[in-house]
Amino acid sequence: MGTKVAKFGGTSLADSEQIRKVQLLINADSERRYIVPSAPGKRDASDRKITDLLYLCHAQVRQNVPIGEVFTIIADRYREIVRDLNVGIDLEPHLEEIEKKISEGASADYAASRGEFLNGLILSALLDYDFVDPYEIIFFDKYGRLDSERSQTETKNRLSNHNKAVIPGFYGCSHDGKIKTFPRGGSDITGAIVAKGVNADIYENWTDVSGLLMADPNIVENPRPIDTITYRELRELAYMGANVIHDEAIFPVREAGIPVKIKNTNKPDDPGTLIVQDAGPVTHTGTITGIAGRKDFTVITIEKALMNAIVGYGRRLLSVIEVNGISFEHMPSGIDTISLVIPDSQLENKLDNILKEIQSECAPDSIEVNPNMALIATVGRGMARTPGIASKLFGSLAEKKINVRMIDQGSSEINIIVGVETDDFENAQRAIYQSFTG
Ligand code: ASP
Repeated sequence: MGTKVAKFGGTSLADSEQIRKVQLLINADSERRYIVPSAPGKRDASDRKITDLLYLCHAQVRQNVPIGEVFTIIADRYREIVRDLNVGIDLEPHLEEIEKKISEGASADYAASRGEFLNGLILSALLDYDFVDPYEIIFFDKYGRLDSERSQTETKNRLSNHNKAVIPGFYGCSHDGKIKTFPRGGSDITGAIVAKGVNADIYENWTDVSGLLMADPNIVENPRPIDTITYRELRELAYMGANVIHDEAIFPVREAGIPVKIKNTNKPDDPGTLIVQDAGPVTHTGTITGIAGRKDFTVITIEKALMNAIVGYGRRLLSVIEVNGISFEHMPSGIDTISLVIPDSQLENKLDNILKEIQSECAPDSIEVNPNMALIATVGRGMARTPGIASKLFGSLAEKKINVRMIDQGSSEINIIVGVETDDFENAQRAIYQSFTG
């Protein structure tokens, strides 16, 4: 029998109705043997996540505010779920203990982790799956980083004794034996560790969207879904702002070559997106996988005659940037010019100082500062070794009279980044999308 690990996000488990859908999905496929739940998320836009409420309780204790009122909201949500689902589990002793511990000053990590813990208990009772506490199998080192070797070994050993189990997401055990959580959204990481630990055939990540789209739906109308994407493409798109499962969060499965499938709990028949190491031979050369972009960059361009012949010029320039604690995103260069593309968030109040230091360290012939730049990445394994891609892309921008201020094509040939004025950000993405899909 095959093995699937299924991680369900907060909106998939927000109330009893959602949990019923999850139960049906799990019961429909006996290979879904390891289930990793998040805490109940928002039921609608105005609702609050259980995790946020738990953090709030912890903050209240620190400010000497009684937590009774907020904790009751949390407890009542779980009580309602248990009642509606008619699950044979008594959560009261757990709720009592959690409220007591948080009131007595338990850590923020402890408080937040209980959202997943309680949801895990409910699911294991509902599905009749074993409950395995991640506190016993997922470990962090003394620097607070995941101890992946130990976690993988413990997860593998422990889960080999359980044919079917629910493992709550988001937390594990710190080096000194305390509950410790991953960063927000970290149940994705738990799912990936479990998938690697049981050597799953696939890691299913169930959420509230039907996978990744080729472009931001707030910019491009009705963008097509992406059926298959490689980790490298995902990395490029995520880096440029595509809001998807983070590739770092799925590092363990990537390493193990286990594919990830993003699926929609509310539309399980939608195909979703498959994330793979290697998508095999490209059958559709000339196509792109997706487009993503980020705004708010400033470009500093330095010009110096015969720059190419001056030894150490680039190093001097970059050391100014380094000393000011700034990291740049791109550095396109010409014969006598170097441009630094820097996110505005990094520059905050530092620009004047940097310009002065560049002047004194590098004595350039001129320095030009261009704010308001946006970067757009067009990504696709189908672009590699295909003539005509760049001409199509730039042709589409020219047609819409969009001026391209920077071009950067990674040597991997799966990504072309263009810099445009912030005002052209949306139009440029629409033009590129249209030219490759229209
Ligand atoms: N419940 C946690 C959060 O809201 C972790 C997760 O859902 O992945 O961040």
